[in-house]
Amino acid sequence: MAKATCTDFVVITGEETMDIVQTGSWGFGEGPLIIAGPCSAESEAQLMATARALKATGRVHLFRAGLWKPRSRPSSFVGEGFRALEWMARVKAETGLPVTVEVASPEHATACLEAGIDAVWLGARTVSNPFSVDAIASALQGAILPVMIKNPLSPDLDLWMGAIERIYAAGIRRIAAVHRGFTPWEKSRYRNLPKWELAIELRSRIPSLPVICDPSHMSGKAALVPETAQKAIDMNMAGLMIEVHIDPPHALSDRDQQLDPRGFAKLMDELVFRSSTSGDISFLNRLEDLRNRIDSIDYQIIGLIASRMRISEEMGEFKCHSGVTVFQLERWLEILQTRTQQGVSEGLDEEFTGRVIRMIHEESIRLQDEVLKRLRSAGRCTPPPEEGKEQ
Ligand code: PEP
Ligand code: MN
Repeated sequence: MAKATCTDFVVITGEETMDIVQTGSWGFGEGPLIIAGPCSAESEAQLMATARALKATGRVHLFRAGLWKPRSRPSSFVGEGFRALEWMARVKAETGLPVTVEVASPEHATACLEAGIDAVWLGARTVSNPFSVDAIASALQGAILPVMIKNPLSPDLDLWMGAIERIYAAGIRRIAAVHRGFTPWEKSRYRNLPKWELAIELRSRIPSLPVICDPSHMSGKAALVPETAQKAIDMNMAGLMIEVHIDPPHALSDRDQQLDPRGFAKLMDELVFRSSTSGDISFLNRLEDLRNRIDSIDYQIIGLIASRMRISEEMGEFKCHSGVTVFQLERWLEILQTRTQQGVSEGLDEEFTGRVIRMIHEESIRLQDEVLKRLRSAGRCTPPPEEGKEQ
């Protein structure tokens, strides 16, 4: 298979010929694949109660639970491990729901095959490590069970594709990607940034690959799950993986983002599944993609401006203690010149860039002034320098 490079956009590399069995032919039912269940298997009782409630909704194709939890901090709940495989077998036997778990090592994979688990997935942390993916792929060699591959923690499409290729090379044909978002480097509305454009790019590189969305890990909070799930459905994703716990406030992991079974049933009733064959679906998807990208950029712009203003306030305090004036002409001229130059080299209109940077600077001066006045009136400033003397 030819290799895609980072700079390729829609690459014709041979990936599009990947012979992947679609989710509708995995034997779990038709339509978007709905996977639901708790973040972690905590006890047999918790698992059975959640599974029974989910079965009763009639909307679940596959029951999920994490047995081995890859936690950021070692003090967190790490899962019940191998013994929970028996609980999953009981879920399957009593509710009839097929079951899926996360595998993070070849030992997990082998144990799942032996225990008759119906599908497995590789988590974001595992997918971030090609050695782990290789080891799991070897353990799963030739298996017929479906393998789902979550996106890696960072927005690295090649890393995600690499994991898919490694699983495919092990002879597995029931494959889906799971889009769960990417670790944000700054404060964000989402626990994991959706970056929908990456999922779209993945689909254009491997058109036969079903991509499922995990709105729970993307959102990080239950209230944001419905909106995120609807976006995924509007983008014609192949399914949803949703975390559902019988008693979310007492969950041992990912407490804030898990729905309870009623919340899940309500979500399923309210989701609008549009027909993907309707004439304008590709227009809607494109429009949605563009809007998502704009939303995400605007969110970052406002956040960055707010961070800049917080620094300005700190600067006001610092200047006050050092006894220098707020406005310093040379610094301002340098800001105006360098930012305008950057704007022009990025293809922005010079006058527009100047206007934006003037507004930001004006607000920054106003804030610094405010801080200065407040500190001065509290007698907490060194006296200002002589009138008219810039520093
Ligand atoms: C999970 O599904 O519970 C999980 C740990 O997910 P992720 O790998 O997406 O963080
Ligand atoms: Mn989780």
